Amino acid sequence: MISTIGILGAGQLARMMAQAGQTMGLKFVFLDPAEDACASEYGEHICAAWDDRVALEKLGKSWDLVTFDFENVPDSSASLIESLCPVYPPPRALYKSQDRLREKTMMQELDIPVAPFRAVSSRPDLVAAVEEIGLPCVLKTRRFGYDGKGQMVLRFQEDMERAWQALGDSDLICEGFVPFDVECSIIAARGKAGETVFWPLTRNLHRDGILSISIAPVFDTELQARAEELINGLLDHLDYTGVMTLELFLKDGELLANEFAPRVDNSGHWTIDGAVTSQFENHVRAVCGLPLGKTANIAHALMFNLLGQMPEDKTQDALKLDQMAGVHWHDYRKAPRAGRKIGHVTVTADSERKLEALASQLAGRLGVAAELDLEAVLKTGQNFPAINDIAE
Ligand code: AMP
Repeated sequence: MISTIGILGAGQLARMMAQAGQTMGLKFVFLDPAEDACASEYGEHICAAWDDRVALEKLGKSWDLVTFDFENVPDSSASLIESLCPVYPPPRALYKSQDRLREKTMMQELDIPVAPFRAVSSRPDLVAAVEEIGLPCVLKTRRFGYDGKGQMVLRFQEDMERAWQALGDSDLICEGFVPFDVECSIIAARGKAGETVFWPLTRNLHRDGILSISIAPVFDTELQARAEELINGLLDHLDYTGVMTLELFLKDGELLANEFAPRVDNSGHWTIDGAVTSQFENHVRAVCGLPLGKTANIAHALMFNLLGQMPEDKTQDALKLDQMAGVHWHDYRKAPRAGRKIGHVTVTADSERKLEALASQLAGRLGVAAELDLEAVLKTGQNFPAINDIAE
């Protein structure tokens, strides 16, 4: 019987996993180098570097299993812990997701459609890649990129040198630019015996590479089935246990994979208030070997990310809208910092019409950016400037 779970990383994802697990009587311990890591209110916090052997051994020897809220843990650390206690998802999944070239190559081998890509480690490589792939294209660092960081769009030949100056110190990948109609993500939970459940495909809108809004359900059963087929390929190949997210582009009715995350994901935060079982609870259930909960929506749901600073003075105002339907306020209790994910709010309603009305009012009270994003997300086919454009 599992009683204590170790988590590598103590950010908001670990915090929400612990919130879900605590109601099931589980205890948590976190390893994270950040002193003020926001999950630490929910269990013991070992404050040490990701590769601190003593701390890792403490984590691995004393707890029943270890999982992650962060995928860029060094391979050697995940392997060390694996030699001491069970680790879910399998470190192999982490290894694949940490490097965009490895990740895209694996997807290609599994017949998961992706944009054309080429490895780039020199100026001549970049010239050759741009020639083959064509413009526009996207140059990305292979490792440590997140929320649109470490990537640039190349639209003109002249952009090549500037992009090389900015990113050329790292190993890179050049990808075709996908002029997608919308972005979406499929989140799945797989148990130890291979049983798998999927949440409804979620539509996402990014602003400057950071998730702004998620909304579900919005897609038809055909697209849902296709998305499930794609993520299933990854889950089976990696003999996966836990929650996985696959980010997708939808273009002319076809799905193309962008990247996968071997963990719970921001685009699934709506499941806490909008689904029978949240992604966090099912992750905990999966890694503990417990039966998985149902994933259907219990309401139409729309999530806004709160970035930078909690709109404290607006909280009361926003919550008053609750009388119309559901407004669910989540504060990660993180120190304010520009662009930082510090909370989210999920709106739930029993019809799409009510959801839109309530979300519009809420966006109005939260500020202009959210309002603009909402307008875009409610109009299908809107293409948002999602990543830093080198030509700006
Ligand atoms: P990523 O870090 O790869 O998830 O990229 C962040 C965001 O940039 C994505 O959610 C998309 O909005 C956008 N993006 C990334 N790659 C591409 C691409 N090849 N074509 C078009 N947009 C992209």
